[in-house]
Amino acid sequence: MNFRAHALAGIASFFVLLACFKHFLISVSLEEALILCFLSLFGALLPDIDAKRSRIHSIVFYCVFITLLSLLILSTTIIELVSAFFACLFLLFLRKKLRHRKTFHSLKFGVACSFIAGMLTEILFKNFYGAFFFFLGFFSHLILDRIV
Ligand SMILES: [Zn+2]
Repeated sequence: MNFRAHALAGIASFFVLLACFKHFLISVSLEEALILCFLSLFGALLPDIDAKRSRIHSIVFYCVFITLLSLLILSTTIIELVSAFFACLFLLFLRKKLRHRKTFHSLKFGVACSFIAGMLTEILFKNFYGAFFFFLGFFSHLILDRIV
């Protein structure tokens, strides 16, 4: 399945879950809706992070690498310097060892990431809705990969 189809499924997941929320009279603000839409979209795209040719892999890998490189350059203590260096090495090692449709396409990984998404919205909006939106987006990815 390609990037566009997964992105579309992620957006569709967002609207389906938003309609369910509305049905059960759960309201979300515009800011919440934007974050929840992003989480649903990110959840739908994240599993392909293990495909080296995917867009999400490139985006996430280079963002993390640039962040770690910045930390390496801007580090002020030896501990920060060593930590950033080993984090860069670990990221490069991890990239070499990635195998498509293994760990990142598992429900366990989806549940773990959903929990993190839930914690994010818990911090931002004092609710755990992000977990549901992320998980539905993630699940739509797994379903689409199974179908096609
Ligand atoms: Zn996939």
